[in-house]
Amino acid sequence: MHDVAVVGAGPVGLAFAALAARRGLDVVVLERRTLPRDKACGEGLMPSGAARLDRLGVLEAIPLADRAPFAGIRFVQEDGSSVEARFAREEQGWGIRRAALSQALWSRARSEGATVLAGEAVQEFVREPDSVVVRTEDAQVRARFLVGADGLHSAVRRWAGLQGTSRAQAGRRSGARQHFHLEPWSECVEVHLADGSEAYLTPCGPASVGVAILWSGQLPRGLGYDGLLREKFPSLWQRLGGRGAGEVLGAGPFLQTVRQVTDGRVALLGDAAGYVDALTGEGLSMGFAGAEQLAELLPDALLGDPRFVLGAYERDHRTRFRRYAITAKAMLALARRPALRRSFIRLLGRRERVAQILLGWAMG
Ligand SMILES: Cc1cc2nc3c(=O)[nH]c(=O)nc-3n(C[C@H](O)[C@H](O)[C@H](O)COP(=O)(O)OP(=O)(O)OC[C@H]3O[C@@H](n4cnc5c(N)ncnc54)[C@H](O)[C@@H]3O)c2cc1C
Repeated sequence: MHDVAVVGAGPVGLAFAALAARRGLDVVVLERRTLPRDKACGEGLMPSGAARLDRLGVLEAIPLADRAPFAGIRFVQEDGSSVEARFAREEQGWGIRRAALSQALWSRARSEGATVLAGEAVQEFVREPDSVVVRTEDAQVRARFLVGADGLHSAVRRWAGLQGTSRAQAGRRSGARQHFHLEPWSECVEVHLADGSEAYLTPCGPASVGVAILWSGQLPRGLGYDGLLREKFPSLWQRLGGRGAGEVLGAGPFLQTVRQVTDGRVALLGDAAGYVDALTGEGLSMGFAGAEQLAELLPDALLGDPRFVLGAYERDHRTRFRRYAITAKAMLALARRPALRRSFIRLLGRRERVAQILLGWAMG
């Protein structure tokens, strides 16, 4: 019997597997796809997440061609007005191509001793008195604990009865990303704002910029990624000069709520543990924070009744999530009121210190 079975080898599941194996636990990860895995993501890792990746020894393992540092966030409006908020001097974010991040975390998890089984889609799990049994089409894995790190549309969350009951989201939000073969022109992640849509430009290497577009509601038939970029962000479209390279990947709808993130021998992690919107660029950092804490608590939790020890994970997750949700909802409220957003950004543009303080708060 394994100590922990992890469903999902996304960045958060793999980071958790590496950390838990490092603490001496016998960890098995089940992933339905092949690895390394690319996915729709803005690929901007905020300083706290980058520091966690560094502690795991993963940042340095990523080739320099697939990553680039950034110094803050710059919001740019339709008329070119902008505001820039830089991180504190000692802090740095990293734009990292998703497939390279997946490769490096996959290697780290295995070198720490975790078993990673790709091409194994989990179909159900069954709780037994002292264990959990996870079933795929042709395998069965028994573990003392189950971690659902299976992303935005987590089946573990549903099977465990941990799904929240959110009201239907008005103008449900989704996103898509493509890479552009370009030298990054800014030291910051640039967020271009338009009515009903945002485009995130993240430097991801010396000759690579990731452009993630987020939007509300259904896209008009046949519009697609290029059409949205051309229609909503015409000057950006021109500047990118048709140098899109590789697949356009999409994801959504974003809003996913949970009742709680632990239940007996089951815990949710990463996007599976709830999500509001991609516009704060914090999904990975939040997930890595949760992975670190869960890996720290689990060895003790497995000595006795997990419920007592994992209360701390439940509480701290709520605190982390609340701060993120407040920021995300405030940004969404502004995005839905373009006139107010334009005045607010113009005002902040004249008060960059205030922008800096807001960014510092948003990142905890
Ligand atoms: C457009 C967009 C832009 C974003 N921009 C940013 C950004 O700039 N910065 C940032 O930090 N975050 C960003 N995010 C969020 C970020 O991508 C997520 O928070 C992050 O991917 C969460 O990682 P995860 O490991 O929890 O889930 P995922 O990366 O979704 O991984 C889940 C894994 O579980 C596997 N899986 C699912 N079901 C099963 C099953 N039944 N059996 C086995 N395996 C299964 C999946 O195949 C997948 O590999 C963005 C998201 C989007 C959509």
